[in-house]
Amino acid sequence: MEVPFAAVLAYKSRNINETCIYEGKTDFFKKQYEELQRFYQQRIECDLPIYCCSITNDITTIKKRNSRNFACGGGINIFAVTDNGNIYSCEHLAFDEKYAVGNIASGIDKKVLESMQPDDVNSILECSNCWIRFFCSAGCFSEKMLIGRASKSLPKEECTLKRIYCGMAFFLFVRKVERN
Ligand code: SF4
Repeated sequence: MEVPFAAVLAYKSRNINETCIYEGKTDFFKKQYEELQRFYQQRIECDLPIYCCSITNDITTIKKRNSRNFACGGGINIFAVTDNGNIYSCEHLAFDEKYAVGNIASGIDKKVLESMQPDDVNSILECSNCWIRFFCSAGCFSEKMLIGRASKSLPKEECTLKRIYCGMAFFLFVRKVERN
């Protein structure tokens, strides 16, 4: 089907049973990424479009040399509001009231909000030497919060997968530049 689509790794957070973990599956994903890379390399060499927006957006990010200190705008310029008026810094946290940062009737609690926002990747020790830190920006903060890794890097296996993915995005970017 020739329609734009986005592809992302499954969100971990509450979905952490054995059907959704990456531990021990790095080699499997690596092979899949290699296959994907070959597929898109061929498309680039045949001047065919890439319909996966996740990849085209990342190629554009590299081309424009955009760097990001924060993984997203959750709790900064993006909020989720539930039907009872509770406000959350991320829709992935809106399943439990304990993550609410306020309510539209009473307003936002700034202290709580500060604890529910993505960290600057520069403040995360484990990310300090990672070559993709301004691309990954330390990963999804709500996912990390829900698996007990707030203000830390992603779990090791996910970091590996992110680096493999970024390697592919950079490779495709170079192929595209060389093609033009
Ligand atoms: S891949 Fe891991 S270490 Fe690298 S920036 Fe992302 S979370 Fe940090």
